[in-house]
Amino acid sequence: MTTRLAPSPSGDLHLGHARAFLAAWAAARQAGGRVVLRIEDLDTPRVVPGAAERQMEDLAWLGLDWDGPVLRQSARADYYAEVLHRLAQGGHVFACYHSRQDVARAATAPHGADGVPPYPAALRPPHPFEAKALAAHPEAAIRFWVKPGTVTFADLLQGPQTQDVAADVGDFVLRRRDGLFAYQLAVVADDAAQGVTHVVRGADLLPSTARQIQLYTALDRPVPVFGHVGLVLNQAGQKLSKRDGAVSLVALRQAGVQPQVLIGWLAATLGLGTGQPCAPGQVAAHFGWQAAAALPIVYEPTAVPWA
Ligand code: GLU
Repeated sequence: MTTRLAPSPSGDLHLGHARAFLAAWAAARQAGGRVVLRIEDLDTPRVVPGAAERQMEDLAWLGLDWDGPVLRQSARADYYAEVLHRLAQGGHVFACYHSRQDVARAATAPHGADGVPPYPAALRPPHPFEAKALAAHPEAAIRFWVKPGTVTFADLLQGPQTQDVAADVGDFVLRRRDGLFAYQLAVVADDAAQGVTHVVRGADLLPSTARQIQLYTALDRPVPVFGHVGLVLNQAGQKLSKRDGAVSLVALRQAGVQPQVLIGWLAATLGLGTGQPCAPGQVAAHFGWQAAAALPIVYEPTAVPWA
């Protein structure tokens, strides 16, 4: 078994990341498996200088270690280009010069999985793109030629899932017009390259999963098992953010919170233990997938053991 920790250095890690990371780490360690670390600094304009280093310090502070070299997506453009080429060879991509306004104008369904209209099939060219044409279109967005029909998978935590990529999202972007590779392509390319067997991450990424399964299939790679951990929400029911006070791991460690207090609390939110302080290794020793881990929890600043 191989799981991964895949933070984006666009901000600091918070309790939501720590909850999913603890589950990913403990699942692998209990099985005697591997944990790999990947810094998802693909979207270079959004990268905060120093954030990746702080995130690695946060992980070390929590006691979550990893195996092998740290992968940085910003250094892997050549590999993503190769994977894109392979997809083009298989007849799975096309070049798109349409602007966002063109897409919105041609859209027939109002909102897709990401809150934007699905890419309209009417804007598709008659045929997929030939691989040799890729180099001739450096300024086009390259989109994935989505297969019609539903994708089903059994999520370790969220149960049986059915998603319809064609209806909900349409042909999604693999390489943006500015030349940056998209998250969906990079995450599949890297999980495949790192031999990840179990993708354990926050439930906000559940809607991306069918897209990723279509990519694995197009690349003829084994589809990993997915487990989506419930999010940590603020009292207004939103994903945690800076406005919610000291929820970043940096802030907690600067405030002198003991990591074992945090680990014990996080473990209890995963349905493991009673919230007593403990080390990650103790969580791994007793690890199992519990129904509680699927559910979102609400962070109440006065009700946590370090308040
Ligand atoms: N880098 C993404 C994030 O921090 C996670 C991607 C993934 O786990 O697939 O939200």
